[in-house]
Amino acid sequence: LLSPSGDLGVTIFEEITTLAAKHDAINLGQGFPDTDGPHIFKNIAASGVAGDLNQYAPGAGILPLRKAISDHQRRFYDLDVDYNDEIVVTTGATEAIAAAILAFVQPGDEVITFEPFYDSYGATIGLAGGVHKTIALSAPSFQPDIEDLRATFTDRTRMVVLNNPHNPTGATFDKKVLAEIVALATKHDCLILSDEVYEHLTYGVTHIPIASLPGAWERTITVSSAGKTFSFTGWKVGWATGPAELIAAVRTVKQFLSYSSGTAFQPAVAEALGSDKSFFDNFARDLGERCEILAGGLEAAGMTVYRPRGTYFIVADVAPLGFDNALDLARQMPESIGVAGIPLSVFCQPDGAERTRTLMRFAFCKKPTLLMEASTRLSLLS
Ligand code: PMP
Ligand code: GLN
Repeated sequence: LLSPSGDLGVTIFEEITTLAAKHDAINLGQGFPDTDGPHIFKNIAASGVAGDLNQYAPGAGILPLRKAISDHQRRFYDLDVDYNDEIVVTTGATEAIAAAILAFVQPGDEVITFEPFYDSYGATIGLAGGVHKTIALSAPSFQPDIEDLRATFTDRTRMVVLNNPHNPTGATFDKKVLAEIVALATKHDCLILSDEVYEHLTYGVTHIPIASLPGAWERTITVSSAGKTFSFTGWKVGWATGPAELIAAVRTVKQFLSYSSGTAFQPAVAEALGSDKSFFDNFARDLGERCEILAGGLEAAGMTVYRPRGTYFIVADVAPLGFDNALDLARQMPESIGVAGIPLSVFCQPDGAERTRTLMRFAFCKKPTLLMEASTRLSLLS
């Protein structure tokens, strides 16, 4: 009842990371970079800890960080976000997602996600007592079908949860798809929760926040985080932005999830958000190059590869190698070849799990030498 797998057991990330550690495998499963973000930001956090930033921050987040988030939204997307009441700083995007869903979804309300969906959506919709509806994203484009979209929205839909760029498929949603989602959300008067933690990790496309489309702002809560953009996944500083009345409800729930979030990290994230555009561009270019290294390795190993337009992840089909179940393979690979990946089926309800049965997600946010070594080991599968 509570999650796609029927319980809230150990997350797949925990399971595969534990297996990878046990067998000393290269962990291309859980999405975290093997190189930390810049020292200048670490030093700001360190001096906060050495100084006097060790007690509770304001629940909504420190003012300099809220100002930096507001400036960032204006600079990149021409979005006008009031730092007083249209932003809440959270303990990672995870808390922002949970607080937004718990704030608005009542038992029996329908919530739409795009399948495969990031695991916390299914779990939190379950915790809220919502009814989880999905729209399939299928290879090779992983774009939703417009007719499916139209058929899935109903007047019982309370919220649509969008993840753009999309984990695990690496898709970015085309503007016409985003516009259709806004039109349907307006028609059925539902909220849009847009998880954009990979907003700066795009390859050859420019990120479009759904909140920037006409008619979207008033019903959209946008979520992001410092983890992916600045390579500090362990800091767990995220945020939600949106109209004041929606953010007020998210803040209310947040009070009882964490009350407030890591004080010493907040000035560092504020500084990072103000980085030159070249910082963001160079990071994405560098990641795009890493993606190509791994894509080449996966192809050389004989898999069919779906190159991403965003995120840390690339999806490969293991069927050409004769495997018919990526979940079984993911559980064997750390021991058999010393590489870990995540099967897509774990991000799905049963029908979707069947459709994605032979697909595996690999993280490329790793050093090039490690990706090359992983490629060599992956060739042992063929
Ligand atoms: N949303 C998506 C799509 C993610 O991939 C992740 C994991 N990085 C999160 C949310 C959680 O982000 P955070 O670590 O900031 O809580
Ligand atoms: N978001 C990361 C991923 O998709 C993992 C986060 C987690 O372990 N919950 O791999």
